[in-house]
Amino acid sequence: MKEKDLDLLTLKEVVDVFAEFDLRHTDFPHNYKDDKKIPKYNGLTILEKKLIYLDKDIPDIIDRRKAVIHEVLHSKYFLQGKKDTERQVEKETEEIYKKIYG
Ligand SMILES: [Zn+2]
Repeated sequence: MKEKDLDLLTLKEVVDVFAEFDLRHTDFPHNYKDDKKIPKYNGLTILEKKLIYLDKDIPDIIDRRKAVIHEVLHSKYFLQGKKDTERQVEKETEEIYKKIYG
């Protein structure tokens, strides 16, 4: 693993996010599902309220892990005063997941 690779998400950044954000595992009763019955949203972050919601019923552990990484990234950039995009966060989520779990 290259030194630069670790910069995507550090343990300090994860600690900083969970020290400031309220993480709630909750129902997503109105979650939109696509035609393959795959939910569109597994998580939602309300940055202004420092609130992270995760769908408590995501069946797949991989999807649950990716939802955590995804919402932590949004929160991290918010705390750092940086702008992010959905596309960038999705790409980084995949990279981080691959680095952690292979
Ligand atoms: Zn997002």
